[in-house]
Amino acid sequence: MANNHNYKNGGLKTKSISSSSSSSSYSGYKSKPSVTSGLRRNSTGSGGNSAGGHQKDTPGVSGRVRVAVRLRPRNSEELSTDADFADCVELQPELKRLKLRRNNWDSDTFEFDEVLTEFASQKRVYEVVAKPVVESVLDGYNGTVMAYGQTGTGKTYTLGRLGDEDTSARGIMVRAMEDIFAEISPETDSISVSYLQLYIETIQDLLDPTNDNLSITEDPKSGDISLPGASLIEVRDQPSFVELLRLGEAHRFAANTKLNTESSRSHAILMVHVKKSVKERDGAAISGENGSKSHTSRTMKPPVVRKGKLIVVDLAGSERIDKSGSEGHTLEEAKSINLSLSALGKCINALAENSSHVPVRDSKLTRLLRDSFGGTARTSLVITIGPSPRHRGETSSTIMFGQRAMKVENMLKIKEEFDYKSLARKLDVQVESLIAEHERQQKAYQDEVEKIGSEAKKQISEAEKRYADMLEKERLKYQRDCMESIKKLEAQLAVNQEKQGDGRVKVGFKDESLHKKPNGEAQGVAGSAELIEVKKLLQNEMLLRKAADEEIGSLRNQVAQWKRSEAVGSAENLKLRKMLEDEIRQREKLEEEISMLQSQLLQISFDADETRKQLENGHSIDMTGEMGSLVSPVRQQQMKYSGEQEKGSVAKLFEQVGLQKILSLLEAEDPDVRIHAVKVIANLAAEATNQEKIVEAGGLTSLLALLTSSEDENIHRVAAGAIANLAMNETNQELIMAQGGISLLAMTAENADDPQTLRMVAGAVANLCGNDKLQVMLRTEGGIKALLGMVRCRHPDVLAQVARGIANFAKCESRASTQGIKSGKSHLIEDGALPWIVKNANNEASPIRRHIELALCHMAQHEVNAKDMISGGALWELVRISRDCSRDDIRMLARRTLSSSPTFQVELKRLRLN
Ligand code: ADP
Ligand code: MG
Repeated sequence: MANNHNYKNGGLKTKSISSSSSSSSYSGYKSKPSVTSGLRRNSTGSGGNSAGGHQKDTPGVSGRVRVAVRLRPRNSEELSTDADFADCVELQPELKRLKLRRNNWDSDTFEFDEVLTEFASQKRVYEVVAKPVVESVLDGYNGTVMAYGQTGTGKTYTLGRLGDEDTSARGIMVRAMEDIFAEISPETDSISVSYLQLYIETIQDLLDPTNDNLSITEDPKSGDISLPGASLIEVRDQPSFVELLRLGEAHRFAANTKLNTESSRSHAILMVHVKKSVKERDGAAISGENGSKSHTSRTMKPPVVRKGKLIVVDLAGSERIDKSGSEGHTLEEAKSINLSLSALGKCINALAENSSHVPVRDSKLTRLLRDSFGGTARTSLVITIGPSPRHRGETSSTIMFGQRAMKVENMLKIKEEFDYKSLARKLDVQVESLIAEHERQQKAYQDEVEKIGSEAKKQISEAEKRYADMLEKERLKYQRDCMESIKKLEAQLAVNQEKQGDGRVKVGFKDESLHKKPNGEAQGVAGSAELIEVKKLLQNEMLLRKAADEEIGSLRNQVAQWKRSEAVGSAENLKLRKMLEDEIRQREKLEEEISMLQSQLLQISFDADETRKQLENGHSIDMTGEMGSLVSPVRQQQMKYSGEQEKGSVAKLFEQVGLQKILSLLEAEDPDVRIHAVKVIANLAAEATNQEKIVEAGGLTSLLALLTSSEDENIHRVAAGAIANLAMNETNQELIMAQGGISLLAMTAENADDPQTLRMVAGAVANLCGNDKLQVMLRTEGGIKALLGMVRCRHPDVLAQVARGIANFAKCESRASTQGIKSGKSHLIEDGALPWIVKNANNEASPIRRHIELALCHMAQHEVNAKDMISGGALWELVRISRDCSRDDIRMLARRTLSSSPTFQVELKRLRLN
């Protein structure tokens, strides 16, 4: 600051010029900031607040606002109108001085940081004015390049020329951007641009005209200014930047036309944001003094980014606006138009004078340029002047503005940030790659471990195998050695034995030999020791042999004993086998018996069934004619015939008159009395309790006598009925037979025509047929024949009784055959019953059919009947029964019977029926 106080402002004369200070000041301006090391040493890395970054809070280094003056050449108008006048300024560029003439003989001299003549090229102007600022921006400082001057003096020419027609005419904006693009790397760094116009305290977006009233925001902590609504366009190359500038200019022109103003009344502001990452080499330079830091701490250090902002300001013309409003503005408008520029002047004055108050907030321009004057930015101002003496006043005030600006001291601060975001990204990538690497290594480690493990296993098994082989070899070798030793010992033994033999022979010559051989004594001792040893062995052997002999003896004994017991066992075996065979035979016999009993049981149950049915049906039979029961027709007759009342009267009669008296009435003269008496007896005979009394009293004899003595068929019928009832009892059956009952019944049957008489007779015979003891007599006395004779009457009741008799007979006969009492063919066959049996085996009346089916089964149980049955056609009936009989038990019996008969089996095979 001390140096700068030597500069003169507009009010000072050249006398007080200090050339030394001025020359040194420019060299300081020109050079790149020599503050790098100082800055970085003091870097604390704290206090920043930008998003994603960490701004370094560095104490600034002093950096005065640099001011250059540029003189525009005379334009064509000036060349003609001012031809006779000298320029109002005289430049001494080598002395960086400018002389402003007051008149022909007097002038004021001012020193600037650079004095650029009318011949100064655009290139040189850029290099002198802007390049140092651009370089600072690339280093992370804010930078400002501003042009101030009267309208038409070349501000826009200096800053904004695009150089389309003449590339050497490119202005500062284009050139600055060229340098920036040359210095950044597109992969890591970025450049974005805003372009604004400020007019009557309104900020318009030149890149997006719809944003015509942008507001300024200020970071409360850092005081950084930003325009959140402004377009911030990232540019990647020079042509697109130039296009943006062109677009901005076009919009500026359009906006000014609309507002009916001139561009000279507005300020154009270009903002270039440069974000540049610090290269590794630079990073090393940063931590130069901490070079000993470990690798880890260095990799963990976030990358550093530098954020520089370059502001290029093409100010509105500095000339005073005509207060008369000649340009169509009101006074208020004129004030407003000039507000920003005059506020800038006031701020610069305040800063130049080190005033405690700088009215930055008075205008938008001063707020936007807060960092450029009195802030942290490197600022370079170019003031443009024209040569014409007619504008001497404006030129003078421009020069004074520049002089004051030269006194403004900024504190340059680098805008350096730690880029934690990108560090995090980088670390993420590292972590992921480390995870992958770790996994790879882990897998490799596991594989290695597995490999070593399997290798070890292999080696162990190999070692084991080797060991086993060696062991086997050792064993074999040992065996061989052992064998050899044994052989040797045996040989030795043989030699010794030989020697021993010799010794025995030589006993007699012992003394001699002793004499003969001086060392023979020692040999003898050794020999006798061996001999004792051998003897011991021999004794041992003998003992062992004895023990073995004993063992053999006992074993032999055991063998002999075992053989004996085996013989006993086989005898026992034979006996048992015989017993077994007997048992088997017994069993077969029993089985036969069982099957016979089964068939008998069947017969009985069948009879019982029939009886029950009859009783249940209350089948009424009258002595004179109705059909009735099979087993006890008379009894049933009686039940119907007498009724309760009559029964009572008969019993009464029986009691009052006495049995003898009733029996005597059987021989009465009067046939009515006789028949009545017979009926009474018949009724009495139906009661089992009376039967014995009747028989004792000779009733049976009387009844049998009636069969011959009487001619009356009614009497025959009733008497036969009574006999039939009495014939239910086994004792009575024998009595009937003994009194020639069969013959009498046969005769009666022969003479009878009435089916009921025949039925009674047949019933009586059938009852007799059921007695085992009477089989032979029954047959010889023509019982069977009598039965067969009765079939002439085709009444089913008669036929049923006949069939029952045949079945009863067949049953008893079968039983007798099984018991061995009877041999030979069935009497039924011999008496010619078979044809009728076969014919009626499938009778439609079930009582007939069932009895005959049973009879056939009984007969078929005996092989002796088989041939006749086959030839008589009974086999077919049996087959039918075994297949179709509706009664399961009969069907099963027929089936069993057929299958147990070899003859039937052969025949069935022949007929292919089995
Ligand atoms: P301002 O922007 O300050 O109003 P301009 O940049 O528009 O002034 O310049 C006014 C005129 O002067 C333009 O025609 C421009 O070409 C010309 N001019 C300005 N400076 C120079 C210069 N250094 N050399 C040649 N012509 C110049
Ligand atoms: Mg201009």
